Amino acid sequence: MSTITIALSKGRIFDETLPLLEAAGIVPAENPETSRKLIIGTNRDDVRLIIVRATDVPTYVEHGAADLGVAGKDVLLEHGGNNLYQPLDLEIAQCRLMVATRAGFDYTSAVARGARLRVATKYVDSARKHFAAKGVHIDLIKLYGSMELAPLVGLSDVIVDLVSTGGTLKANNLVAVEHILDVSSRLVVNQAAYKLKRGKLAPIFDAFKHAMHHHD
Ligand code: ATP
Ligand code: MG
Repeated sequence: MSTITIALSKGRIFDETLPLLEAAGIVPAENPETSRKLIIGTNRDDVRLIIVRATDVPTYVEHGAADLGVAGKDVLLEHGGNNLYQPLDLEIAQCRLMVATRAGFDYTSAVARGARLRVATKYVDSARKHFAAKGVHIDLIKLYGSMELAPLVGLSDVIVDLVSTGGTLKANNLVAVEHILDVSSRLVVNQAAYKLKRGKLAPIFDAFKHAMHHHD
């Protein structure tokens, strides 16, 4: 019996994928928020979940350690998405990748006078491309989290970060000054599994598609 392994990250991706899994008749045996297990069984003998960091989902799927997974477009852009099928935008975990600064920083003038900008971000590839396209010279500072802090303590002039409600920016006296791209999470599938396990995967993809808010 061929088994299906699905890679998910804890938190919003797991929470928002849960209804889609249920629509496909897949019910996790445990809640990853409270369980310490990294491999979680389901009601189906042939389907299991693995719990990994959001940024690691494409890696597990690319190497075939998972057959499919759910990953944000932000993560996929940084990863490169090589060797992955991306058959479906699940339209979950929606947010925007944006440039933000301290409330007092005049971003427009800095850009207009050709100032060199210090950019702190976890999204170095997306940031590099964005500023290169604008012809803005930058010094990139790679961070792994809490980007909002960087402009407040003088580590950078701007940050490139995900924004949903803007609440975190506001709480830290930051403002979004430029939209880079809209982000949502996609289904990512291992290329070999896509072909070899098609019989089992196709019904899961169909169920996901039908359970989504908007139908194609
Ligand atoms: P951690 O928060 O544990 O450091 P992470 O930021 O990689 O890890 P999540 O916060 O669960 O993990 O984010 C997973 C994905 O959800 C991101 O890659 C992004 O696509 C999306 N996301 C991140 N922040 C938000 C948000 N505020 N609103 C909606 N979607 C978001
Ligand atoms: Mg996060």
